[in-house]
Amino acid sequence: MKQKIIFILLLIVAVTLLVLFGCSLFGGQEPAVTQTTTDVSAVPETDGAPATADSSVTDESKTAARQTEETTAPTAETTAADLPVETTEQEEQTQSASADGSRTVGVSAKGYEIVEINGLTYVDGLLIVNKTYSLPSSYTPGALTSETSAAFDRMQADAAAEGLNLYVSSGFRSYELQTSLYNRYVAADGKAAADRYSARPGHSEHQTGLAMDLNTITNSFADTAEGKWVDANCYKYGFILRYPLGKEAETGYMYEPWHLRYVGVEKAAAIYNSGLTLEEYYGLTSVYD
Ligand SMILES: [Zn+2]
Repeated sequence: MKQKIIFILLLIVAVTLLVLFGCSLFGGQEPAVTQTTTDVSAVPETDGAPATADSSVTDESKTAARQTEETTAPTAETTAADLPVETTEQEEQTQSASADGSRTVGVSAKGYEIVEINGLTYVDGLLIVNKTYSLPSSYTPGALTSETSAAFDRMQADAAAEGLNLYVSSGFRSYELQTSLYNRYVAADGKAAADRYSARPGHSEHQTGLAMDLNTITNSFADTAEGKWVDANCYKYGFILRYPLGKEAETGYMYEPWHLRYVGVEKAAAIYNSGLTLEEYYGLTSVYD
């Protein structure tokens, strides 16, 4: 905006010069045209810079930035340094406004509030994903969350110190990847069988970035030294064994000794010590509509 004002001022000066000295003095309007061309070519460069910087931010913040520009445009004293500050404030307002979009959609059998925020379901501050509660297809952390990764790294290091080799064989999975996996399983085993071990798109915990499969994705993992160590120790790092043996009616899935869910150390210890699944602990269902 500042550049535009300078451009207009230069234009006025150029026109004034023409009027004062007459066209003949400069041999026609050529100098003025040259001046104009130079300024016009300079405008997109400077205006383009903020637009490029905006490309990494959301549409909402772009809107906020535009609103900021419109608000501050008439003020001649506005400096370039003012703009980013006001944009940041607008972003924070937008974020807190969307955070207020939470609503209680029910109460669990154990008396916990079931809260929905932007299509995501939370109970006791935990994102819940199972056969009853799904994620929007657009929800994509893109990778394991940093907390989940850090917790796994600590667990892996401690296991390694005991001569055990833990590795993530499947971490974050996008809605699209889960769609192709599930469809492949349905084609191979039929829908009823696939639903016992594979989540339908939007219902996979892997889409949260909070769940991971360790080592070999087979039941024999439970009999390995690594499998036994994980079963006995993963809660110390904030993980729970999400689909324990004999709990298919509760969790909706067959035994998966390799599948861990990050819930934080405090909640993992409480759930582990209860001997209950996540669904039983909070009194939640896990069934498709
Ligand atoms: Zn898994």
